[in-house]
Formats: sequence, C-alpha cells, structure tokens
Amino acid sequence: MLTEEIKQQRHQARQQRLKAQVDAAVARASIEKGLLLVITGNGKGKSTAGFGTVARAVGHGLTAAVVQFIKGSWECGERNLLQQHGVEFSVMATGFTWDTQDKAADIAAAELVWQDAERFLADDSLDLVLLDELTYMLSYHYLPLERIEQALLNRPAKQHVVITGRACHRRLLELADTVSEIAAVKHAFDNGVKAQRGLDW
Ligand code: ATP
Ligand code: MG
Repeated sequence: MLTEEIKQQRHQARQQRLKAQVDAAVARASIEKGLLLVITGNGKGKSTAGFGTVARAVGHGLTAAVVQFIKGSWECGERNLLQQHGVEFSVMATGFTWDTQDKAADIAAAELVWQDAERFLADDSLDLVLLDELTYMLSYHYLPLERIEQALLNRPAKQHVVITGRACHRRLLELADTVSEIAAVKHAFDNGVKAQRGLDW
C-alpha cells in the first residue's frame, strides 16, 4: 500500500505538470479581439448565459446593448436590472411568437428590431452586444443571412457579440470564435413545473 507521503508527492507532481501545461497555454493565448460567441442547444441556460456575460461586462464598466428577437414574457428580470445600469434594450415586442399566425407581421417586426441590432453593431462605443434568440430569425427565414453576416463581419474590431438560440445556422457557427452547446439533460417543465419568475424569466 502506498504511504500517505508517496500519494501526496505524486499528487503534487501531477498538479505541477498540469499547472505548467495551463501556464503555457495561457502564455500562448496572446490575441486580443472582439469575439463572437454562440450559445446554442436544447438545454436551459442560453439566454441566462448571454445575460450573465452582459452583467459581467457591465460590472467591469464596459458598455453593452441587448436585442431580444422574440416576443417573450412582458417582464424580464435581466432587463429590469440592466437598464438601470445603462444597457440599452431593443425588444421585438410585437409579431413573432412561438405560435406564429401572421408571417408578414412577424417579418416586419423582425426587420424593425434588426435595424437596432445593425445600429448597435456599427457603434464602436459599445463593447458588447447580446443578440438574444437571433437564431430563430434565420430558421424562420425572417431575416436574410447575408445581412446578418455583413453586420457581424463589419462590426468594430474590439466589439464582442453573443448570439443565443436553438439550432444555430451553420454559417454563424463558422463565423463564431466560441460555440457552446447546452444539452437538455433534464428540465422541470417536463414534470409539469411551470416557468418560475426569477429563474426562467
Ligand atoms: P433561459 O432563458 O432560462 O436561459 P434558454 O434561453 O436556454 O433558457 P429558451 O429556448 O430561450 O431557453 O427558452 C426560454 C424558456 O424556456 C425558459 O423559461 C426556459 O426555462 C425554458 N426552457 C429552456 N429549455 C427548456 C427545455 N429543454 N424544456 C423545457 N423548457 C425549457
Ligand atoms: Mg433563450
């Protein structure tokens, strides 16, 4: 049997090797640029992660703006909080819903809110732009891919962008620097639990 001392020495050696690897990787990562992040997948946590990033940025004194691409609950905890900290919101308040009935009205609403997105993506005083649920505008063919692509590619070099939503278009995944896919391992809704204020919106 290994003595405690030998175990401890081995553990220390392993940790030292790990630290050397991490330090080397950190030293290699020297590029600074505006990043495009995509948070997609069927699990809960995409918008939460997007808003978490906005809160993180604002906490450092950076500037941020948010575009919400679907008509959600009237209330949104993050909006209530972040607007008080100077974060401008543009919300697709009319039109698109999950049970969409009127495609022309949806497209008009998408177009209107996208104009704000374009304004934010051209504004070099903004450090971060969150495009919450943007992916659906492409899957429903409400906005042309080329326009979104151009606005993302032409944005200020240091501006970060976070895109959330399920089934993200392949082209946006290609353009992104970081892509996370959240898996739905389990969700309370499947057991009849309704959406909870402060947790789900
Ligand atoms: P959140 O806003 O909580 O981070 P999300 O952005 O990942 O969630 P959306 O697809 O935008 O997920 O859906 C928003 C709402 O649907 C939230 O109330 C969320 O709790 C709920 N939801 C998310 N994923 C699931 C799921 N797999 N099954 C059922 N409900 C879900
Ligand atoms: Mg969401």
